Amino acid sequence: MKKTKTRNKRAHNPQATGLMSPNGTRFAEAAVCLAEIGKGFHARGWVLGTSGNFSAVISREPLRLAITSTGLDKGTLAPEQFLEMDEAANVVRGDGRPSAEALLHLAIVRGVDAGAVLHTHSVWSTILSGSHAAQGGIALEGYEMLKGLEGVRTHKHREWLPILENSQDMIELGEHVSKTLRESPGIHGFLLREHGLYTWGTGLQEAKRHVEILEFLMEVLVRSGAAQSA
Ligand SMILES: [Zn+2]
Repeated sequence: MKKTKTRNKRAHNPQATGLMSPNGTRFAEAAVCLAEIGKGFHARGWVLGTSGNFSAVISREPLRLAITSTGLDKGTLAPEQFLEMDEAANVVRGDGRPSAEALLHLAIVRGVDAGAVLHTHSVWSTILSGSHAAQGGIALEGYEMLKGLEGVRTHKHREWLPILENSQDMIELGEHVSKTLRESPGIHGFLLREHGLYTWGTGLQEAKRHVEILEFLMEVLVRSGAAQSA
């Protein structure tokens, strides 16, 4: 108990935890933004309970990510609850352990050179990823909101949102994610079956925008009956 208290004290002291270093500063800034984004997503009902996880790249060489610690209520996320992890998902700063899904964040960062990865468990993504699993994905086409996805200029764009079979084996799932990213260049996200959405961006604001756009479009599809007609 005493040990935990000492560690927590250190975590709040920027100098003691190396937060004054360039990496430390980037980590601290990312943790503040990630906590805000997480609380906003919780308020929208996209990461209820302890679901979902969020990360941002703070260094490429060596690879370092700020990422949510596992098992936290996303409605009360605080910057000091974030961890810094290396390219093998080892914690190098902070207390706690990353979610098992940290390996998927690493696969996405490597696969598409993302600067931030956001993962949500909304009602809409849970329904659609089940109803459309047999088709292997969902085609989003004709919607003005598609223009919120990076590089998309027209509502005529056809966005393919692949659906991957869910698994608790994160090594296998990570390989499946890497394969999907190689085989479907240009996608902005994917779904895990009856689980949720993964999306990303070059930075946190772009990744946040992609969550908002994709969650909006999935809600539109479910509300307009797409899950029944699949
Ligand atoms: Zn999840």
